[in-house]
Amino acid sequence: MQLDIVVPFFNEAETAAEFAAMAARLAAQARARFGLEATFILVDDGSTDGGAACFARHMSGNWTLVTLSRNFGKEAATLAGLDASRGDYVLLMDADLQHTADIALDMIGRLLADGELDMVYAALADGKGRRGPARWLARAFYRVVNMGQRYRLPENAGDFRVMTRRAAEALRQVRDRKRFNKGLYAWIGFRQERLDYVPAGRHAGDSKWPRWRLVAFSLEGITSFTVVPLRVVSLLGITVAVLGFFYGIKIVVEVLTSGIDVPGYPSLMVAVLVLGGLNLALLGLVGEYVWAAVSEAKSRPIYIVKSVAGPGAAAADPRQ
Ligand code: UDP
Ligand code: MG
Repeated sequence: MQLDIVVPFFNEAETAAEFAAMAARLAAQARARFGLEATFILVDDGSTDGGAACFARHMSGNWTLVTLSRNFGKEAATLAGLDASRGDYVLLMDADLQHTADIALDMIGRLLADGELDMVYAALADGKGRRGPARWLARAFYRVVNMGQRYRLPENAGDFRVMTRRAAEALRQVRDRKRFNKGLYAWIGFRQERLDYVPAGRHAGDSKWPRWRLVAFSLEGITSFTVVPLRVVSLLGITVAVLGFFYGIKIVVEVLTSGIDVPGYPSLMVAVLVLGGLNLALLGLVGEYVWAAVSEAKSRPIYIVKSVAGPGAAAADPRQ
């Protein structure tokens, strides 16, 4: 049986040597414990630090290096790796050594032990995730995307997971251009199991996910997985309109009963500002959905491959 290990990376030159050492250990263990032949599919997501050469220099065993023509983002790079993979099992992991070989092996063990399972994913153990407002925001995000769905996005789960070929094929079938993998893993269905873990610290360099990008990413998740915000907005609009109508009646009655009077500059300002602000915010929200729709309508490829190299190149070309 063959295990493909898909590793998207972007400017990870500093971790290449360490990663290659870990990869060799992981491959040896996968063979010894599960009889799996590991192939690494490294996807260079437009690195500009010469990292690809570092990986190529240090990797041993069977590996393929898929180089994308520029930085397309982790979601697209992961898809390129999936498209290149042909193995019976596929493991997704990061290049920064936050995803350790031990947990990967645990997940593989669980998947192989239970024939009913198609995916085992690592999720942050309770209390090990974000803190403060970030945690609160993450909660709210999961609540919104999971509202009224037939599937559930598990909280605190990332891309670190191992799956069967048929689950990998299912993911490949979804050609969303604004990709939100966390959602897609849940959307494809199959029986999946959670494995709690505590991620290691980053080996070197910084996270490639600054805060603003996380916010943008969450919006992508929302526009591609749920219409709940739009429904809430519709309800809000209707409520405000109904309240406004009754307020209008109240004013008319007051004018008729107690004569003509024009007080209420404060109430006027509040109404104008609140409604104006609400309008702008909601226009932006609708715009997010429109942009998501436009991106799909353009039907551009999700990634462009520049080259495929390495000992396994002939067998692992995402373009075939
Ligand atoms: N990554 C990528 N393309 C990007 C950003 C990140 O392929 O545009 C890779 C990165 O090299 C790493 C993985 O995705 O292997 C996770 O990124 P990072 O460690 O920055 O994310 P975090 O662990 O902070 O969530
Ligand atoms: Mg990381």
